[in-house]
Amino acid sequence: MRYILLDFEWNNAYSVPHKRFLNEITQIGAVMLDERLEVIDVFDVVVRSALTKRLRRSFTELTGITNERMLAGVPFGEAVARYRDWARVGDDTITMTWSNSDLYAVTENIRNFQPDGAPFPIGNYIDLQSFVMAALTKRGVSLAGQISLAHAAELFSISTEPFQLHSAPDDCAVCAALLRQTFDADALAARVLDTDAPDFFERLTFKPHYLKSAAEVGSRGEELRFACEACGAFAKRVTKWHAKGRWLFANFRCPDCGNRFRGKVMLKRTYDDLIIQKRIVPPLEEAAEKAQAVPDEMQRLSETV
Ligand SMILES: [Zn+2]
Repeated sequence: MRYILLDFEWNNAYSVPHKRFLNEITQIGAVMLDERLEVIDVFDVVVRSALTKRLRRSFTELTGITNERMLAGVPFGEAVARYRDWARVGDDTITMTWSNSDLYAVTENIRNFQPDGAPFPIGNYIDLQSFVMAALTKRGVSLAGQISLAHAAELFSISTEPFQLHSAPDDCAVCAALLRQTFDADALAARVLDTDAPDFFERLTFKPHYLKSAAEVGSRGEELRFACEACGAFAKRVTKWHAKGRWLFANFRCPDCGNRFRGKVMLKRTYDDLIIQKRIVPPLEEAAEKAQAVPDEMQRLSETV
């Protein structure tokens, strides 16, 4: 088994064709370890910006990459090709980054700067940040939120003195030291993700959200039916759905017993599921109900939602 610690540094620059600021990868760094966690090789490539001739000063201060170094760099596509040849990602490699934000960044960069390019080679993947945080929790360290690489190094008494943090290959060297301190083959194996799975990046970039209209449910709408609390019959919806915060509201009337109530439903779309919460609350005043009433024809049309 080989372990690859991978890191990107990105500079924020305005893209004229995209009409917005983009995080453009400016350095790709990696350290390759053998199964005894000894360093086999180091990768360090600086990318020439496609957007700007001048890096942000804060970026240069943070990473040590000057404009001159950036301008002497290679185009992003070539940097990716060089990395591919170097990493030779396969069944015998596990690639790790410090938090999966690097995966977002590289996916976005491929999309923006290499739209016809093959995906960045990652293969078997572990988020080292979450692995190290789990290791710390196991050791009884209580953590409030995600921890930085520097903080993690400090907690494991790893000296960052010889390194320039936020320089990609040096960050990878610190990651390698953290991996040595926390290494547990079984715990690592349990966390391996296959980034070549067809839905991996879709899943990574999916943002769970609350549906703002009943139409977005997109099925036959059984999720939006309410049974009468008094007799159990399915109630008839007598107003349109309207959204308020995370909830959708509508008024209902039971065809069997005439019971009136207001149903509210919260619909959260995650990658795999539609999570539904339903409540029954007292009805609106009759005047308010009339104002929101659905004409019969529309009622029939919208019966499915
Ligand atoms: Zn009823």
